[in-house]
Amino acid sequence: MKKIPIAILLGLFLKGFPCLAGESAVRTIVTTFYPIQIAVLNVTAGVEGIHVVNLAAPTTGCLHDYQLTPRDRAILSRADRVVANGAGMESFLDSLAWLRPAVRIIDASAGIDLLVSGGVTNSHVWLSPSRHIRQIQTIAAGLAAWDPVNAGLYQANALRYEGELKTLKAEMTRGLGELKTRDIITFHEAFPYFADELGLKVVAVIEREPGTEPSAGELAALIRQVKASGVKALFVEPQYPAKSAEAIARETGAGLYRLDPVVSGPVAPHAYLDVMRLNLIQLRRALN
Ligand SMILES: [Zn+2]
Repeated sequence: MKKIPIAILLGLFLKGFPCLAGESAVRTIVTTFYPIQIAVLNVTAGVEGIHVVNLAAPTTGCLHDYQLTPRDRAILSRADRVVANGAGMESFLDSLAWLRPAVRIIDASAGIDLLVSGGVTNSHVWLSPSRHIRQIQTIAAGLAAWDPVNAGLYQANALRYEGELKTLKAEMTRGLGELKTRDIITFHEAFPYFADELGLKVVAVIEREPGTEPSAGELAALIRQVKASGVKALFVEPQYPAKSAEAIARETGAGLYRLDPVVSGPVAPHAYLDVMRLNLIQLRRALN
């Protein structure tokens, strides 16, 4: 057998253990789904050696009833920190006792007053810019406590992004200041926080969660409800098929517009801001 020089063997050994080799180790922050991934990308911008990996595929949308895939489990087994939206969005969080003991889960919605309707806590917290600012602060504090060396950077990033979210909120409040109507109908129970912040009224939700289309009888009742409400604007989401929305629009003469709950899209730090500005344009078109 050919002899391998000891230096090469040692080099190969150290390559598998970058800490021992003196390189800074890459640490993995796992985010549960798209809006949290975008939030964490902002908070960790410019921090060396941080790898942000998202669980759910970008096309998943909301995580209601989401089951972890083998790929998710493999990603979670390499996590150093997990950042979740919380507020009941990730029902699988309770089943993560098998994570490495040092791994903590940062619950971005901790301490936020949650909206409850019909006994069900609504988990779409990120759609209110003010509450999303609280989420950003919680994420930054959690990461700073875990990684004190970069605490200043996390906090500075959070502060910068908070400023952008405040500007967005002011723009939306101003843009929606004077509308002919503030009544909207949506197709997913995603917008109570959004409506609460912007003074809109969700008169009805057609499809409470994606994949639960109304029956023919329910559809007829919804058409009566929309007609009686006088609401002229129906908001569908780009992520979900709009079959029942189209039927209701046809039968009631209401307009069909797009409201995006920011659960999928390009993986870019400014994605949340961009989508919310498009939502503002749609709302102004629909409600004036
Ligand atoms: Zn949802």
